[in-house]
Amino acid sequence: MKNETKSIESVAGNNAAASREFSAGQAPNRQLYTSPEAEAIKKEICGVGRKLWLRQFVDGNGGNISYRIGPNEVLCTPTLMSKYDLTPEDICLVDLEGNQIAGSRPRTSEVLMHLEIYKSVPEAKSVVHCHPPHATAYAITGRVPPNLVIPEYEIFVGKVAISPYETPGTQAFAETVLPYVKEHNTVLLSNHGIVCWADTVTHAEWYAEVLDTYCWTLMNAVQLGAPLSFISEQKGADLLVTKKKLGLPDVRFDTSRIKEGQFSDLESPGSIALKPGLSDGAAAGRLSSADLELLVKAVTTAVMAAIAAK
Ligand SMILES: [Zn+2]
Repeated sequence: MKNETKSIESVAGNNAAASREFSAGQAPNRQLYTSPEAEAIKKEICGVGRKLWLRQFVDGNGGNISYRIGPNEVLCTPTLMSKYDLTPEDICLVDLEGNQIAGSRPRTSEVLMHLEIYKSVPEAKSVVHCHPPHATAYAITGRVPPNLVIPEYEIFVGKVAISPYETPGTQAFAETVLPYVKEHNTVLLSNHGIVCWADTVTHAEWYAEVLDTYCWTLMNAVQLGAPLSFISEQKGADLLVTKKKLGLPDVRFDTSRIKEGQFSDLESPGSIALKPGLSDGAAAGRLSSADLELLVKAVTTAVMAAIAAK
């Protein structure tokens, strides 16, 4: 079989764990790596890699994809490969500490962030990290997009968080997302890109698409010069009901935190939201997410009062 004859020690520059051949004790790893489930997931990862490349979400060798296939085992993409060119044989198997246990190519260094998410969020089965241009534009300005503009975004992503910058590939970078990932399936990575987790590889890639298209649409709308219109909080609550049924996380499920404005996960630098251009279009200022909530509430109240006065 291919995976038996292709020694993992043949890869130049591989890490220490990956430089071992399969031994008798590693037979379970080999079985897992070549299992029908693993082969199906590897194909799904390759397909998602091509989607990401075609959407221009991954440049050069950028981006990485993983799937937790066992309690301590994760399939992930290799380093230094375009996500368009991936084949199932390129996919690596690592343990939750990042040691490579199967696969002929060395794993991505950014798998450390994926592993931190798996260790922190039991529901996370897949993680996708990429650099989609419109969402990354928000990430380099330290801004998160406002909510209650498009229903699909509220349901599949919702309130996105933004994590502080760290050098990619380091353990410090991996841990920057930890304060956010329990309540957010999508996080903007300052000056870098985004990371999404989901129950499947395909769904994790969907959230990247939903977030980037949302950011793109907002950028287009702001250029029209007219004020944005917002979905009412009441209708927004309806969307959250749907979201809860789908089992998706959202920080707004905890209404006590909304009332108290305690969006701790959106504090510096993520507390900065794009000013939606509600009044005069001079959107030079910045609103915190708590301020934005208050603003939307105030507008809704004023509209309701005007309707009641008629
Ligand atoms: Zn990256």
